[in-house]
Amino acid sequence: MAARILDGKQTALKIREEIAAEVRQFVDAGGPTPCLAAVLVGDDPASQVYVRNKQRACEKAGIEGRLDRLPADVSQSELLDVVRRLNEDDGVHGILVQLPLPRGLDERLVLDMVDARKDVDAFNPCNVGLLMQGRPRFLPCTPAGIVQLLHRYEIPTAGKHVVVVGRSDIVGKPMAMLLAARDGSCGPSAANATVTLAHSRTADLAEVVRSGDIVIAAVGRPEMIRGEWLKPGAVVVDVGINRVEDRLVGDVHFDEAMEVASAVTPVPGGVGPLTIAMLLGNTLAAARAIHQSRNSG
Ligand code: NDP
Repeated sequence: MAARILDGKQTALKIREEIAAEVRQFVDAGGPTPCLAAVLVGDDPASQVYVRNKQRACEKAGIEGRLDRLPADVSQSELLDVVRRLNEDDGVHGILVQLPLPRGLDERLVLDMVDARKDVDAFNPCNVGLLMQGRPRFLPCTPAGIVQLLHRYEIPTAGKHVVVVGRSDIVGKPMAMLLAARDGSCGPSAANATVTLAHSRTADLAEVVRSGDIVIAAVGRPEMIRGEWLKPGAVVVDVGINRVEDRLVGDVHFDEAMEVASAVTPVPGGVGPLTIAMLLGNTLAAARAIHQSRNSG
């Protein structure tokens, strides 16, 4: 029997409408228009598309989207100056440095410079630490989008074995943290799972994946996870975005997964749109927190 498709696009649209309504309420109640400032360095075509999509999504939600475009040969100190200026700008509530940065620029240094209160990507070590302790300031966008998707499709995670493949700081590691968290501390009630975090050195990966009630693939290798790797009835969340000739494919072989799993996210139209929706939510949360602290201070 074919699996159910978990429609990230529709879910994200719904979340974006909810955020737009909250933005209206916040502004009507005297709050400032939330503002997300993006920094785009160089002319990587994929990054340009991502930034454009994020800006359009902002506009539709009533969030101001600003953009600083810098040439690929910008110096480290010039880039840090831009981030510093945005940190100090009272009209900016969220800062997003589009990754990857061109060769020669130190990503870590730049991300560490972003004011933790405006760090809507949740990359700043202070925010990573808060997340680890189960009291996040911002939820990392892609993992939080996946939690929302599971929650809204009423897929239980408590007591389930989740296998996360990939241990990046952006997806795999925070994903594992969110799902292993105590209920409710890191978003809606998608938590309390038993999590295995697999990576390139995991022995017998296929067997590990086969033990997962829920499999989350964040590897960046086209169609690496095959149908025969999956437990029958598993839920499959495919984070991977890989360009193969003229089409985008995930890290999971979609057609094979559809035959074995109970639910699968498509690529495109799965996790990607949710990531953007969560970014908008974090920008509103940042605007609220900054506004509140100014009013109380
Ligand atoms: P990274 O390259 O940072 O991390 C990839 C991870 O996969 C690493 O932990 C690596 O292991 C692991 N890995 C690589 N090869 C294998 C293998 N053969 N077997 C098992 N594990 C392996 O990638 P990201 O996490 O940034 O991104 C992963 C994918 O998700 C990409 O396709 C990216 O485009 C996509 N993505 C999608 C987003 C969305 O919104 N939908 C957002 C962010 C990313 P090791 O640590 O041992 O090297």
